[in-house]
Amino acid sequence: MPGYELFGAEERKEVNDVLETGILMRYGFDGPRKGIWKARELEQELCKRFDVRNSVLLSSGTAALSTAMAALGIGSGDEVILPTFTFVASFEAILSVGAIPVFADIDDTLTLDPASVARVITSRTKAIMPVHMCGSMAQLDELKALCDQHSLFLIEDACQAIGGSYKGRALGTIGNVGTFSFDFVKIITCGEGGAILTNDAELAEKCDHYSDHGHDHYGKDRGADLHPYLGYNYRISELHAAVGLAQVRKLDHFLELQRRNHRIIRECLEHIPGISFRRIPDAAGDTGSFLSFFLPTAFQAKAAAKDLAEAGIGGNPYWYDNNWHYIRKWEHLKNAALMNRLSEEYRKEIMHQTNLAFAASDEWISRCISSAVQLGWTEDEARARGKKMAEIIEAAMLVNA
Ligand SMILES: *Cc1c(COP(=O)(O)O)cnc(C)c1O
Repeated sequence: MPGYELFGAEERKEVNDVLETGILMRYGFDGPRKGIWKARELEQELCKRFDVRNSVLLSSGTAALSTAMAALGIGSGDEVILPTFTFVASFEAILSVGAIPVFADIDDTLTLDPASVARVITSRTKAIMPVHMCGSMAQLDELKALCDQHSLFLIEDACQAIGGSYKGRALGTIGNVGTFSFDFVKIITCGEGGAILTNDAELAEKCDHYSDHGHDHYGKDRGADLHPYLGYNYRISELHAAVGLAQVRKLDHFLELQRRNHRIIRECLEHIPGISFRRIPDAAGDTGSFLSFFLPTAFQAKAAAKDLAEAGIGGNPYWYDNNWHYIRKWEHLKNAALMNRLSEEYRKEIMHQTNLAFAASDEWISRCISSAVQLGWTEDEARARGKKMAEIIEAAMLVNA
């Protein structure tokens, strides 16, 4: 899955361009930078590669989500619907603009169940945030229809799914706004970084301002910029953007390797009696970064994940017990009030959310194992690993039947 596996001469070349001039900041210093604008170039590259009109780079995927919501005017008292299975950054970003995270169940796609989303829409709902978890897409047609029906924004958290698509369109470009993450373990990496994608030019402009203290970037220099909006510093540096530029140019190659290894592992597991695989709304658009499957019982899934780890076959998380990705273990959301001194009313709304039942999510996640697919495996290595996995999983299923 991660771009850091295939890192080398291309990244060094781009970074060296920046080191030659020493201009590490993405704005200003027009003379000394000698025509080197890596962040700008990467933004253009993203627009071209993903067929979207605007992209704005940021310091992280979390910053991208926060900025996107601020630019959409989402704030205090507003509700944003997101899945129970995601990375903690999704709700952190919602809290960062003062809005309320409202959770909806996932289904066998491991992403938002549109029927569950429909049940939690209220007059305060402002947006639906599907998360394209583990490299595959949410049911975007159904979610888009709900957004149209209730006049809501569709915010795609595509941080784990760069390069994926849905019915021919790139993930991240289908909603009003979409986000990518380039943190160190994502499909492509800059070390730290993120991006916003949107076809809405006005929204993109607000995101651009917001990520740089409100600078409008129209002045003849930074001192002459105006500040029509409030902003913060969520800028990316030229060094990070340089790495991203080299990585995005290799994305198609990464996807090819990932999909091949994904297919091989799947072929090895398919014959196991009782196993079933995550439903992918558009299989052609899967990035292949994880192979997710369900065993008949939670007991079997938990045991199989443990046996895989003990056999030295890493990278097979059992999400139900994972405190980054599944709602059951999100202590830091439950404790949000401690550090942020949230108001009593706000805290109660958050607690209410985290204490809801989510039986359907439990049912899917407790039987699920996701196997991370590496780029670096040869076909033989992938096959040997897949066969070993199949033996261990089958044995675990028998012992724990
Ligand atoms: C990684 C990730 C983010 C946040 O990205 P960072 O760049 O690490 O801040 C947001 N959402 C999801 C689903 C992620 O996996």
